[in-house]
Amino acid sequence: MYMTTVVGAGPSGLAAAKRVQERGWETAVIEEHPKVGDPVACTGLISVSGVKDLGIRKEAEEVLMNEIRGAQIFSPSHEMIEVKRSETVAYVVDRGGFDRVLARTAVEAGVELKLNTRLIDIRGETLFVEHKGRGELIKSRVIVGADGVNSRTRKIIGIETTAKDYVHAYQMDVKGRFDPRYVQLYFGDYSKGFFAWVVPENEERARVGLASTSGNIRKDFNLFVQEKNISGEFCDMCSSLIPVGEPFRSIVKDNVLLTGDAAFQTKATSGGGIILGMLAGRIAGDSIDAHFKNNLPLKNYERNLEPINKELRLHWKIRQFMNSLSNEQMDAMFRKMGRAKVGEFLAQAGDMDRPSRFIGKLMLKPSLWRLFPEAVKFITT
Ligand SMILES: Cc1cc2nc3c(=O)[nH]c(=O)nc-3n(C[C@H](O)[C@H](O)[C@H](O)COP(=O)(O)OP(=O)(O)OC[C@H]3O[C@@H](n4cnc5c(N)ncnc54)[C@H](O)[C@@H]3O)c2cc1C
Repeated sequence: MYMTTVVGAGPSGLAAAKRVQERGWETAVIEEHPKVGDPVACTGLISVSGVKDLGIRKEAEEVLMNEIRGAQIFSPSHEMIEVKRSETVAYVVDRGGFDRVLARTAVEAGVELKLNTRLIDIRGETLFVEHKGRGELIKSRVIVGADGVNSRTRKIIGIETTAKDYVHAYQMDVKGRFDPRYVQLYFGDYSKGFFAWVVPENEERARVGLASTSGNIRKDFNLFVQEKNISGEFCDMCSSLIPVGEPFRSIVKDNVLLTGDAAFQTKATSGGGIILGMLAGRIAGDSIDAHFKNNLPLKNYERNLEPINKELRLHWKIRQFMNSLSNEQMDAMFRKMGRAKVGEFLAQAGDMDRPSRFIGKLMLKPSLWRLFPEAVKFITT
């Protein structure tokens, strides 16, 4: 009998497991694959501020591939906004390696990691799992579903989702010539409901991808690389869904909690889920500790998540607003943003994970927000 079993050895599950174990409660993580962080479907871009908040600088540095200083963001007709800083704002990490570093530190803290172990079902305190093709039972007081975007745990506790809650992402590693300091983001028809990206690993290699709701992601990708003249040697490919739906309000049922992509703790603006998922995983860990120690209800996890949910809801609203614009409206907005020097404002005040931080600062600048009344109304109501 474990006190807690976490389903899924991704960043959010490992953060939750390590936290519960560190608080003194015997914890296991089950992972369906034979190796943590493999396969991987991720660009591996994480904010410096998020790494600081989580206190995982050493872990990130172990798998660091590039340091990013800003972004060039293009509208459908190639209007550009540049957000440039003199210092590093984000890291590009080897994502598989990152998960393995997190797994190692969790195991060092005492977490038991069970590979090749897939969750099939949960009944009360019993997990029905498949281990190397054989059925087994695991007993656990509390269960954390951190099993990613297609979460089995989420289905087991009865949370349904629909296709409109996701975008489909496709990414390739490309060998070519890239400016290693900046990521590039592109809005256009090849990326309906989302955007395309070029995230450099160094001067000669980048992760080039896009996400879209169109239903033919390969075609979208080919159109994008042709239109933007991205050439070079196309190597590894990955493809997966990204949750962009409204954050769930209820993610605890009896003794089961959800965290990370399983709980839609993903930024609907950018699809990034590593930092907020790990922060949420830790909050899950603390809520479980309070449950065991002080008999507090596990449901408190939902309340304890409020600061994270506030940010997730803002991301979701910004996404709704962007998706409400036609290409022409988006071009016009980019032009206006260029004239109002929004890029410079974002360089000083922007935050990749927590939009509330820059929206708060924006509200102190009526000269700026009065230029975008529709956006402000959409996002703040
Ligand atoms: C193309 C792409 C690019 C992205 N780029 C970024 C980025 O640059 N930055 C960023 O922050 N986010 C990015 N994301 C999102 C990010 O990858 C996810 O938000 C993040 O991985 C979520 O972490 P998690 O721990 O919740 O789930 P995951 O990392 O998905 O981990 C879930 C784990 O559960 C395991 N599992 C699943 N089902 C079972 C089962 N039944 N039994 C046992 N184990 C199971 C899986 O094997 C997996 O190891 C990207 C996503 C995509 C698709």
